[in-house]
This record gives sequence, C-alpha cells and structure tokens, in this order.
Amino acid sequence: MQAEYAIERRRRRKRLALVVERDGSVRVLAPMHVPEDRVHAWVAAKSDWIVKQQARMRRLRRQTPLRSGAVLEVLGRGRLIQCDPLLEHQALGDDVVHLRLPEHADEHQVCEQLRRVLVAAAGRHFGARAMHYARLMRVRPSSIGIKDYRTRWGSCHADGRIFLNWRLMLAPVAVGDYVVVHELAHLRHADHSSRFWGLVGQVLPCFERDHAWLREHGIGLELA
Ligand SMILES: [Zn+2]
Repeated sequence: MQAEYAIERRRRRKRLALVVERDGSVRVLAPMHVPEDRVHAWVAAKSDWIVKQQARMRRLRRQTPLRSGAVLEVLGRGRLIQCDPLLEHQALGDDVVHLRLPEHADEHQVCEQLRRVLVAAAGRHFGARAMHYARLMRVRPSSIGIKDYRTRWGSCHADGRIFLNWRLMLAPVAVGDYVVVHELAHLRHADHSSRFWGLVGQVLPCFERDHAWLREHGIGLELA
C-alpha cells in the first residue's frame, strides 16, 4: 500500500528525510534540487519502514478518551480520573486524580485541568527527586523547574538551573529519575563524554533500560 505524504522543500537541507507523526501522517523533507520522481522512488523504497512506524504510533496512541472514570497512568501507577464540580482542591492522589469539573466534562476540558494538576505535582515530585540525587552525587543545582518542552525531557543551564518536562509524570518513576540524574550529571560534565555516562551509570546502574524506554515510548507521553 502506498502511504500518502506531503513533500516539504527545505532550502538548507542536504538529504531526504522522513517523518511519521503521532497521528500516523507522513512528511517528507526534501532539498530543493531533488526531482519529485526521485523523492517518490525514495519514499517507495521506505514503505515497510513507514508501515512499521505507523503501527508503532497507533500502539502509542491512547485507546480511550480521558474523561471522568477513565484511568491515566501517572508515575507508573494507574489512577482513576474523577470529575466533581464541587471539589475544593484539585489534586493527584495515590489512586485517583480529582478534577474540579462537571462530571460530563469533555476530553478537552479534562486534559486542560489534568495538565495543571500534573505540572503542579511535577514541581513537587521532581523537586524531591532532584534533591535526593543531588545529595548522592554531591552537586548543587541552583533551582529545579518544570517546563513544557516539545522536543526534550530536561535541560541543565550553566548557572545551575535544571528544568524537567512535566510529561515525564506520564512515565514510570525510574524513567523520570534517569532524566533527573542525567541533568544533574551535566553539573559535573557539560557534555556527553564517557566520563559523563560513567557518572550516570554510577548512580543508576540500569539507566540504559530507562533511556531506551524513553526513546521507544517518549512520543506517547501526551494527554491528547
Ligand atoms: Zn544531556
């Protein structure tokens, strides 16, 4: 089967590239000079890979909409979403996420509130995890913050500020810990040298498993 795709011409691009999006749509990034029939032939040769990636994206997409009564996995634990318009405080509980919303709130409203609850909870969770590992690694971050990054999981700045992506709340605890340790290790080594990875491995001997998990599942860590 031939996949449908859009060709996007890029002035600075030197080689052809394929992007399969979360919704399964396909984009081809092409340098200006490559003729269209060559682009089509190149994509045709990649059709097995495209089908495989589309299947992967299907598996990663949420099967049931996030509404009151649905279960959302947060920090590796399934939690029941409960909407209640009379609620005083929205909160992430051990087994339940309480949202101040009408019981029949639509998915869009639920995701918006969920995101607020998760960002607040991420501040507490990653603040505590970072303090724990910073002591262990004898490093001193100047602050731990939460960001809404599209394409990265964390960052470490020269002035010692560390930021974590709130979407890591949708991953198992060990995966978030790996990102925390990775960013803290940059306070010692501002690169990805063997000394850097040596430090990460000292703190988390199984970090490669969590790194691989993130590569495989990271694109699925979205609410909608
Ligand atoms: Zn890094």
